Amino acid sequence: MQYDYADNGTRGEVLAQVRRVVVKIGTRLLMDVKGQGPAERIRQLMKVVGELRQSGLEVVVVTSGAIGAGMELLELRRRPKGMAALQALAAVGQCQLMTLYEEASSELGFHCGQLLLTAADLHDRSRHLRVAQCLNELLAREVLPVINENDSVCVDEIKVGDNDTLAALVAGMARADLTILLTTIDGMRERDETTGELGKRMSVVHELGSEIYNMAQGTDGNRFSVGGMVTKLRAAAMVTRSGEPLIIAEGFDFAILPRIMAAEDVGTIFLPSRHRRMHARQRFLAFFSEPQGELIVDEGAAKALISQGRSLLPGGIVGLRGVFKAGDTVSIVNLARQEIARGTVNFNHEDVSRICGAKSGDLARLLDRPVNSQVVVHRDAMVLL
Ligand code: GLU
Repeated sequence: MQYDYADNGTRGEVLAQVRRVVVKIGTRLLMDVKGQGPAERIRQLMKVVGELRQSGLEVVVVTSGAIGAGMELLELRRRPKGMAALQALAAVGQCQLMTLYEEASSELGFHCGQLLLTAADLHDRSRHLRVAQCLNELLAREVLPVINENDSVCVDEIKVGDNDTLAALVAGMARADLTILLTTIDGMRERDETTGELGKRMSVVHELGSEIYNMAQGTDGNRFSVGGMVTKLRAAAMVTRSGEPLIIAEGFDFAILPRIMAAEDVGTIFLPSRHRRMHARQRFLAFFSEPQGELIVDEGAAKALISQGRSLLPGGIVGLRGVFKAGDTVSIVNLARQEIARGTVNFNHEDVSRICGAKSGDLARLLDRPVNSQVVVHRDAMVLL
């Protein structure tokens, strides 16, 4: 397929709708830019964020730099590898980082509120809702939420791992209209597949397909950071699938932010891949919840879900895997074992194994009890993937 990566006015249309924006700042933009350290950089950032807020935008900052700031304070030249050392550096650096954020913002007349998250806070439904509630409350009180991963307590199982992904998750949870990843490169560049040479910056990416992934160039390998282009594309995929745009742009000069909002042709914008934005329940199912099992469906059922927007009935289920209870999230897979949807299941695995293949009217008889629902996964509690 041929793509046109130039802007033909789409940016202006998309950005005109934006009221709530998540801005992610990479570690390298805060640590040492032309001899300026974190204090000066954060002061510059807060000045620009303050201006955006005054223009009527709700801003959420996802900041990296805890480990970097810890390294500076403890005068380490190399990023250590051991988990405990990184946790300790984050503990030291996060305090320093937030002090700088609060000092800079209060000089400008607003306050910051810190949220330190782990994947576990986002994946569990009730914790997720509490975090979203807190975020909304901070915004309602005109406090600037400043978010980072809680690196000091993060073990592998509960780690998001990089702040590009964290920003996408936060944007999904906060239903932000736009996510901006500020980094050290000016956007995504076209790349010749045979020579590997980088070409023009792409201004607009309409569809995030394999061509784009193939062109992704790594930006990893400096002494502070974790995210490269791959994590940025993963973030873009998540945000655009929710129905919102994401921009990758160079943030050495934070004045890029108002330029982005004014729809200037800077950075790369990834456009939403669906017309309608996902509602909160669908986002939770698609990006936050862990499927506890799998329902395997026949071709007819797969078609009914995908093209006709139907609920999943027992008759279309040909098999299942996993141990789940009613209310858990399950993957719905086709006969080729591709995941086509995810949803909240109304029966536990034992019940599903008894009723799969059956007509809806037979459920009470097969289960030997009255049933409230004839559908296994209701349309409203399902997201197509
Ligand atoms: N949470 C890490 C930190 O504050 C950064 C992760 C990232 O940059 O992706 O140092």
